[in-house]
This record gives sequence, C-alpha cells and structure tokens, in this order.
Amino acid sequence: MSGPATAAAADYDVLVIGAGINGAGIARDAALRGLRTCIIDQDDAGAGTSRWSSRLIHGGLRYLEHGELGLVHESLRERELLLRQAPHLVRPLPLLIPVYAGSNRSLATVDFGLWVYDLLSLGRSLPGHRRLSREEAIREVPGLRIDSLEGAATYFDAQVTFPERLVIELLVAARESGAVVRTRTRVTGLLADGGRVRGATVESPDGRRETLTATVVVNAAGPWVDRVIAGGAPAGGRLLGPTKGTHIVVRRFAGFAGQAMYAEASSDGRPFFIIPWNGLVLIGTTDTRFEGDPATARATEAEVAYLLEATRGVFPRTAPERRHVLYAYAGVRPLPRQGLRETAAITRRHHVRQHASLRGLYNVVGGKLTTFRSLAEEAVDQVVARLGRRGARCATAAAALPGGGATPLDVETELQRFPALSALTRRHLADTYGTRAERVAALVLAEPALAEPVCAWSHAIGAEVVYAFQEEFAGSLADVLFRRCMAGLGPDLGRAASERAAGIGARFLGWDADRVRAEHAAWAAEAALFSTVAESARL
Ligand SMILES: Cc1cc2nc3c(=O)[nH]c(=O)nc-3n(C[C@H](O)[C@H](O)[C@H](O)COP(=O)(O)OP(=O)(O)OC[C@H]3O[C@@H](n4cnc5c(N)ncnc54)[C@H](O)[C@@H]3O)c2cc1C
Repeated sequence: MSGPATAAAADYDVLVIGAGINGAGIARDAALRGLRTCIIDQDDAGAGTSRWSSRLIHGGLRYLEHGELGLVHESLRERELLLRQAPHLVRPLPLLIPVYAGSNRSLATVDFGLWVYDLLSLGRSLPGHRRLSREEAIREVPGLRIDSLEGAATYFDAQVTFPERLVIELLVAARESGAVVRTRTRVTGLLADGGRVRGATVESPDGRRETLTATVVVNAAGPWVDRVIAGGAPAGGRLLGPTKGTHIVVRRFAGFAGQAMYAEASSDGRPFFIIPWNGLVLIGTTDTRFEGDPATARATEAEVAYLLEATRGVFPRTAPERRHVLYAYAGVRPLPRQGLRETAAITRRHHVRQHASLRGLYNVVGGKLTTFRSLAEEAVDQVVARLGRRGARCATAAAALPGGGATPLDVETELQRFPALSALTRRHLADTYGTRAERVAALVLAEPALAEPVCAWSHAIGAEVVYAFQEEFAGSLADVLFRRCMAGLGPDLGRAASERAAGIGARFLGWDADRVRAEHAAWAAEAALFSTVAESARL
C-alpha cells in the first residue's frame, strides 16, 4: 500500500475498479446520482467473467432448492426490469425440463418448483410454466431421449445473447452522465492514509504510472477482487472462493428444434443448459473450484467431453461429437468464500462490504449478470452514505439503457431510411445497438463504403468498426469483433471478418501496415482463448 496522497480535493468522488457487468452498473448508477465517477479496467470493458457466462437473465430455478427465495425474487424482479429497459439485448427464453424415471427431481418436484417460481414471478410479463405429457414433450423436441421419459415442463426465463454489449451500454450511460471511462489501465496498488482509502495507483500499457485520487473506491474486480486488495489493503482474509465454469458452442443439430433445455447430466445428475444462441447452440456449464489467476482459466478436453456426454444423455441419436465443437470457453465465478461446501451449494447471492481495515474501500463479492442493477444500487447507496450525500437517490430502476426505449422491430423499421443497408444488417444493427443503431447507420450516409458487410455470419458492417473506436471505447480490432459488433462469436470466431475490419481500420482509422499486422496478431491471441487445453479436469 502506498502512502498518503496529498491532493487537497480528490480527483473523483468514486473510483470503480473493474468494468465488468457489476463495475459498469455501479459506475452508471453513481454517475446518474451526480457523483464524480471514474471507472477503470486493466483490459477491455466486459473482457472478464461477464462474457464467459451462460448468458441467461434468470431467476435461478436451482437456487430454490437451496432455499434462496430472496435471491430468486430479486432476480425475477431484475429480469423484468431488463426486459423493459434493454429489449434489444434481453429477450424472453422458453426452456424445457425433461424428466426421466430415476431423475434426481421427479415430475411432481419440478412442477412444484416451477409453481413456486411462478408465484415469485407474479405481476411479471412472462407466461407461467406448463406441464407436458411424454407425448407432448416428444412433439416439442423430436430428438429427445424417449426411454424412461416421464414427461416435461416448460417455463420462461430470459437470455442476453451478448452481455458484452450490456456492459458497453452501461458504460455509455455512465459516460453520458459524466463518468470517465478508462480501459487498459491496471490498478497496481491502493492509496491509503490513516486507515482511509485515498485512491489508487494505476499503470497504462506503455508502462506509464499515475495516481488517481478518490474519496471512495469500489473494488468490483470480479474474480480478481482478492488480488486487488492484496495490492493495497491490509490483510483481512480472502473474500472469494471462486469456481470455474466451461461452455461449448456447436452448430444447431437435428432433433434439437431450437428449444432451450435445462436437463440433468446423465453421469452425475448435475443440471446443465443446452441453449439456442447466436444462431448456434451453447452448452454448459461445469462448476469446479479454481484457485489460479482468472485470466488463465481455459476449457479442458475433459470438460468438453463431459458436456458432450451430458448432451448425448438428452439427444442420444443426434448429439454433436467432438469434431462438431466450434469453440469452448471458461470463466471464473467470483463466489463468496464458503469453506468446503459442494460448489453448487455456494450461494450466488452478492454482498458489498466496506473493507475490514480500510475505510472508504468497498469490495463487491459474488453477483450474477441478472442482478447487476440491484447490486449497483446497494453499492452506491453505501457510497453516498459514506460521502454524506444520502439525498442522491438511485435512478436506475426507471431508466432505459441508451439503446432501449423502442422495440428492436421499431428500430428495424426506422432503419429502412438507409437503403444501402441490407435487411439482415438492419436486423443486426437493431438487435446489437437498439435505438443507437441509427447513429451507426448515419456514418454510412457520409461514407457509403462503410455499408459494406465485414461479416457474412453476423451481417456486421464497416461502420461499426469506426463507431466502436469513436463512441464505444474500443482500442483494438479484437475489442471490435469480440465485444462491439460481435462478429467474433460466429463459427469462425471472426477470422474472415478480421481481414475486412482491418481494411476498414487502414482506410478510415489511419492504420499503417504494422498496425494492421499487430491488430491481426491480437485478434488471433484472443481467439486462442476459445480453444481447449488438454489437461484433465476434476468435475
Ligand atoms: C460459467 C459461468 C456461467 C454464468 N452464468 C450466468 C448466467 O447465466 N446468468 C447470470 O446472471 N450470471 C451468470 N454467471 C455469473 C456472472 O457472469 C458473474 O457473476 C458476473 O459476470 C461477474 O461480473 P463482475 O463485473 O463482478 O466481474 P468481471 O466481469 O470479471 O469484471 C471484473 C473486471 O475487473 C477487471 N480487473 C481485475 N483486476 C483489475 C485491476 N487490478 N485493475 C483494473 N481492472 C481490473 C477485469 O479485467 C474485469 O474486466 C456465470 C458465471 C460463470 C463463470
């Protein structure tokens, strides 16, 4: 920990460390309340756990089994808010639970659980659950394993296809309210003086170090929370007991019928998801203890085999095989430290607490994508209390995200004013940027060449490359492909798009040949995160 920072007045009221979903949500909330806010991330925004998730905005049916009714209720409320505030990013998702003789949960148990789920969802917009006979279930999902199938149930949750975009929009909202957003700036230590936090020392990629002073610091570094503290605060014991989760992505396969499934893995009875996603199928997840650097978490071959085997248990005739796996990814859940509990039993509830021995430092532990807004409200309530600004009330429950405020269909209709854009690109822009899509499209009026598609899968266009750099904090081609226009999550991880997008960089952003080469190399390094390592895994 460094010594006192001497500035008379701090640079910021609040410094938020970590621009994942939680940090971005906190920065938006703080800025909306009029606090002088700065948010920094060592990497690009949304490059941590938030993108390695199952991408569901859900009440967490499984948490009911662990008696976490409060968490389920909170999540269902937040799900409803997100469906309204970000209709372009968060959509309803019907799921089907098949029940077999010998399943851990009988049809009656599933039915009862979903009845409670419906009860906790009362007043919300999504339909309630339905119980299906064996025949009805087979009709819905033709490839389903039928031996010993007793029936099924369907229920609704929601999906955020790209949490990466949700993070960016939260940061855009924060900036619109005056927050400073800095990516690729790493906190190397916390500043303290007389038991109070005073800010942080940070380092830019070129090695430049500087001091940012703030009255309050919120450590929202996700699975890195303990590492940030270790770089500054006096010891107080570790806060996290992280676990790793892996997903695989395959093309749609026969018999799947595009119906999201929530099933039990045949080998160990753990529940897992098979979800239609981004025109592909997302299958996950695993849940194993992980103590290493979160940046090094990779999917292992054993985990991929486990997920394929689990899928085969549901679709015995048509399940994908190893050669069908397009890519895999792994992330680390920043769960609270809870001894040697079974990983599934570790609470998914979050908490925001002032550090044991450093006043003004607040650590965020746990949390889900789903509950980022309520977590942020809780965090900023504590911040304003600390700052003596209790009158600054939370405004996020009523505020649409920057791209919200109209349905994607309405946005798509508006975009017909831009005849240079294909119908598929209009849909892509509406789904990706919501009402902000018109600003992307407007670039095409000035530069018709920017209407050219850069990606045949996503239908992203050149204008998005320029827009990402100008308006959405992008600093590299990889940022654009993996976390802005989302061409990077297609079957080829944006390989083809990277060529064309680099051409846009050369033509419109002044990249020379060296820069183009460096951007390609950085894209390839990031694409490698989606490959597997051979090491065996304990599941
Ligand atoms: C496999 C898996 C599946 C999941 N599925 C779901 C789901 O379907 N639905 C759901 O609601 N939740 C889900 N979750 C949980 C959810 O994804 C996470 O709880 C949430 O994304 C955590 O967000 P965060 O902002 O706290 O952390 P992160 O997204 O990891 O953000 C932390 C940020 O801090 C930055 N940082 C770290 N150290 C420093 C430093 N020294 N200086 C500057 N910046 C730093 C990192 O670069 C990172 O960007 C899942 C999680 C996993 C792992």
